[in-house]
Amino acid sequence: MVAENYKIVEQKICEACERSGRKRSEVTLIAVSKTKPIAMIQEAMQAGAEVFGENKVQELCEKYEVLPKNLHWHLIGHLQRNKVKYVVDKAELIHSVDSLRLAQEISKEAIKKQLEINILIEVNVAEEESKFGTTLEDTETLIREIAKLPGICIKGLMTIAPYVEDPEENRMVFRTLKKLAVDIKMKNIDNVHMKVLSMGMTGDYQVAIEEGATMVRVGTGIFGERNYAI
Ligand SMILES: *Cc1c(COP(=O)(O)O)cnc(C)c1O
Repeated sequence: MVAENYKIVEQKICEACERSGRKRSEVTLIAVSKTKPIAMIQEAMQAGAEVFGENKVQELCEKYEVLPKNLHWHLIGHLQRNKVKYVVDKAELIHSVDSLRLAQEISKEAIKKQLEINILIEVNVAEEESKFGTTLEDTETLIREIAKLPGICIKGLMTIAPYVEDPEENRMVFRTLKKLAVDIKMKNIDNVHMKVLSMGMTGDYQVAIEEGATMVRVGTGIFGERNYAI
């Protein structure tokens, strides 16, 4: 089932790229494997998945240990400062940086371990109270502060769009994040690259690609519904 789902998602990504005149190689599919067992990740690997997203540090670390080292792991969920030390050498990209204090902790660990940590700034575009992320207004100021920290490289922006029935409802959210990235890029801030736009999940990744996503995070569409009760 996972392999078939993966192929369907892959096909839909290709279609969205075609519709918007983009190359398939411009978009990275992140298979969001949170709560899902190793066997399912292996199935996805057989279908061609190489990049996996987890939202909890402990789960990412456990899966990292047992799976082949050629896989790429991204931390997509909220990160607590006391967990930073466990994840900086395992996650290739941290999508969820939304405060200077968190960035300072990441910088500290980066120096200690002599790493350069790639991060995205999470923006709460729709300003939902339940969500993490900086506001649109505060993003540039936060980026200017984080950009000064050693051991950190800001690669772009991430957003979690609202849950909606019709993905078209999120088109403006994605367009707004893209516009913010373009605006910030034009300021040519040292140590800030606005190449990555992580936006779009199972319900809306095609719309996100049409609006410029370079990374889409798809969980349910590949692995099926999650059961948090077990
Ligand atoms: C769980 C999660 C996803 C995947 O959501 P689906 O709707 O299952 O595709 C994407 N991004 C983040 C940050 C998540 O926590």
